[in-house]
Amino acid sequence: MTQAVKFCSHAGCRNLIPLTERYCSKHKHEESSRVYFHRKHSGGKYEAFYHSTAWKKLSYQYKLANPMCEACLKRGVIRKVDIADHIVPIKEDWSKRLDYANLQALCIVCHNIKSEKEVKERKKIKLKKY
Ligand SMILES: [Zn+2]
Ligand SMILES: [Zn+2]
Repeated sequence: MTQAVKFCSHAGCRNLIPLTERYCSKHKHEESSRVYFHRKHSGGKYEAFYHSTAWKKLSYQYKLANPMCEACLKRGVIRKVDIADHIVPIKEDWSKRLDYANLQALCIVCHNIKSEKEVKERKKIKLKKY
């Protein structure tokens, strides 16, 4: 019986490996370290924070106390809160991440508008600098 094989996914490598694998033993290590690098630099501590119990508890409590979107409310629109949002983003001030006074209740629409603005503003700052 012949086992089904294919080439290693590493560019240019012609080592034959079982169909269930992606890389030969020589390149397996290389790939896993790259995945680790990617993970470490994509979300990092911010992503870990949003998954933390402390944040889940705090945002849950905040949304209980503020069941309406605050931005919509200012315009006289009643919309249910979707997200407890940081007024000062945690990427700007990490120390305010669990500061109750730094939170605002937003619906998903207002939250998206705010994040878009933040990205634009960050680009502006970059343009000014260089
Ligand atoms: Zn290989
Ligand atoms: Zn809203």
